[in-house]
Amino acid sequence: MDTKEAQDMIRRIYLDRDRARGLERTLLRTFEELGELSDAILRGKSRNEMSDEIADVFAWVCSIANLLDIDLSGALCNKYNGVCSKCGRTPCECTEAP
Ligand SMILES: [Zn+2]
Repeated sequence: MDTKEAQDMIRRIYLDRDRARGLERTLLRTFEELGELSDAILRGKSRNEMSDEIADVFAWVCSIANLLDIDLSGALCNKYNGVCSKCGRTPCECTEAP
C-alpha cells in the first residue's frame, strides 16, 4: 500500500468520524498517539507494539490531512521530491546536528 492508498483507506474508514470530531480534537488525539508511540519506544516494548503505535500515528496524520483536504503523497513529493528539503541532497548533508 502506498501513501495515497493509505490516506484513501483512512478517509473511507474514518472521514465521517473525523469531521464530527473536528480538526482540533483530531490533532489532540494525534498527540496522544505520539505519546503512546513514545512510551512503546522508550519502555522497550515489543516490535509488534511499536509497529501498531506507529501505524496509529500515521493513520491520525492521514486523518488530519483528510480534514485539511491535503494530499499527503503530493505534499511529501512537493516538500522532499527525493532529496533533503533543506540541503537538496540525498543522503542529507546538512551541517547541523541530525
Ligand atoms: Zn539536508
